[in-house]
Amino acid sequence: MGEKIIGIDLGTTNSVVSVVVGGEPVVIQNQEGSRITPSVVSWTKEKEILVGEPAKRRAILDPLNTVYESKRFIGRKYDEVKDIAKKVSYKVVPDEKGDAAFDIPNAGKVVRPEEVGAHILRKLKEAAEAYLGEEVKKAVITVPAYFNERQRQATKMAGKLAGLEVVRVLNEPTAAALAYGLDKKENAKILVYDFGGGTFDVSILEGGEGVIEVKATAGDPFLGGANIDERIMDWLIEEFKKETGIDLRQDKTALQRLKDAAEQAKKELSFKMETEISLPFITIDPETKQPLHLQKKLTRARLEQMIEDIVDRTMDIVKEALADANLKPEDIDDVVLVGGSTRIPLVQRKIKEFFGKEPHKGVNPDEVVAVGAAIQGSVLSGEKKDVLLIDVTPLSLGIETYGGTMTVLIPRNTPIPVRKCETFTTVTDFQTEVEIKVYQGESPIAKENKLLGTFRLTGIPPAPRGVPQIEVCFDIDADGILHVTARDKATGKEQSITVQPSSGLTEEEVKKMLEEYEKHKEEYEKKKKLIELKNQLDQIVYPIERFLKEAADKFTEEERKELEQLVIESRKAIETSTDLEEVERQLKKAQEVAAKYGEKLYKLAQENQKGENKGGDNKGGDNKGDDQGPIDAKPVD
Ligand code: AMP
Repeated sequence: MGEKIIGIDLGTTNSVVSVVVGGEPVVIQNQEGSRITPSVVSWTKEKEILVGEPAKRRAILDPLNTVYESKRFIGRKYDEVKDIAKKVSYKVVPDEKGDAAFDIPNAGKVVRPEEVGAHILRKLKEAAEAYLGEEVKKAVITVPAYFNERQRQATKMAGKLAGLEVVRVLNEPTAAALAYGLDKKENAKILVYDFGGGTFDVSILEGGEGVIEVKATAGDPFLGGANIDERIMDWLIEEFKKETGIDLRQDKTALQRLKDAAEQAKKELSFKMETEISLPFITIDPETKQPLHLQKKLTRARLEQMIEDIVDRTMDIVKEALADANLKPEDIDDVVLVGGSTRIPLVQRKIKEFFGKEPHKGVNPDEVVAVGAAIQGSVLSGEKKDVLLIDVTPLSLGIETYGGTMTVLIPRNTPIPVRKCETFTTVTDFQTEVEIKVYQGESPIAKENKLLGTFRLTGIPPAPRGVPQIEVCFDIDADGILHVTARDKATGKEQSITVQPSSGLTEEEVKKMLEEYEKHKEEYEKKKKLIELKNQLDQIVYPIERFLKEAADKFTEEERKELEQLVIESRKAIETSTDLEEVERQLKKAQEVAAKYGEKLYKLAQENQKGENKGGDNKGGDNKGDDQGPIDAKPVD
């Protein structure tokens, strides 16, 4: 049996460590005897570094030296997170590379989010070592489904800094499905509803015969329990202002205390109908110099009013995921709850209303992700052999082809790892290079998507357009890293790129693109259709153009006129028209003319072929070749 691989849920708010012992996952207590470790790190004046509960306790006393929710900043550029930076009480700054980092006075330096993650991971590693009585070197760490490559790599780096080899970065919902035991069910479908402190994720997974497959994912990286806390805070601040005229927002320390009190009240209202929020000495009256106290009663009903739109938003995302997986609520066998915020009664009620049944409450929602990671760890260590995991691509991946089209090789929500190949060809005669531009996104217009990388395949032997066969393969490995290869089938020459982590999309970009796609779905379909029609038209007109140039003497004056007219009109339609019907009309006309001259054109093509192809394997010069994909691959000047 291999060495132990622990499972770690490195959460925005809290972290949990688990390991499989004797076939059963165990959640390990930390040094303070708690199964949950707050993801908080604090630097004292004495240069001591506190992690977890002791750090969280200092958050009020020393807001500038205490970092919480650092997961929001890991693997991200400072510019991307400027707005979130304003909401935390410590100082977020760009490091020398422009990445988000923290300026911690007591640390005497700029601390990177990876280092903060490493402190938390090290504490959990030590807890696991104390429990197991042996050194732990490897871990599976979970991340939100929407984490991009950079964020995943940065998470791995945090592990490395903590002395852990991160053998797999696992999506949180997938981990939850493993803990639920989806792999042991027969053709069951579950929906993982993960409502944590900082993120909301929905995944639909299908299990059976030892395999778990993710069918669809959706989410909002900025929707979590913290948003609920903020609502309560805002309410408290408003109420206090009404009573005293003092704005507590100006006071960082007061804000931190309000945040804690708001969270505490929220948690209590999950099992009580009413709670008392009491913050003595919250501030000093600037006029009387007397201390002021904040005292407020909050009922569950009032809280539910305050947050109903937040819960409704999560349900909208649930609907999105269902639509994506082409499923109805009744197709879901179980809803698995993940994250502390699923303890809120309103959340459970809305889920029950929508699905018509109680959500599943098998594993503790705070621990279910870590337990899944531990199970995955035991599979990777060879201890457990019966599960295989499949994740999905959040957005479509493809290349730019003729006319600026996005030709998708891997549609969104395709299970990974995956390999897909398609054959393309050249667009101009004697073209010896093609440029492969790799894009990610849902628009049929390539440049409206995110460009991930570009490379050239050169040295293609000169041949008429449509003859060279260039095979493009997309390969996504189990860690979600994309390798793209282009190979000229005739020469075997090949070029490839691996998409760099830094070129991936940020969470917001993914979200925005999916929203754009939903909004402009019809328009996209129209554009796609327009491009397809134009490509068809081009395929008819191109050979006619050529024959007019190279074999003009084979046509009568009248024929030439008609064909020239057709070419001019068609080129105009291809280059300028945005009107679907107009292009359709022109295509029909071209088809009619082509049919009229069909025999003549065919003969010319035959002759032409003989002249050009000295024993080549061109299958009749028919550009519509079935396995060739569209006439494609942009020419390189
Ligand atoms: P997690 O990311 O799973 O650690 O979830 C943390 C979030 O769950 C925080 O926003 C907590 O305030 C919230 N939470 C934990 N327990 C409860 C509870 N009993 N009721 C409501 N929210 C809770």
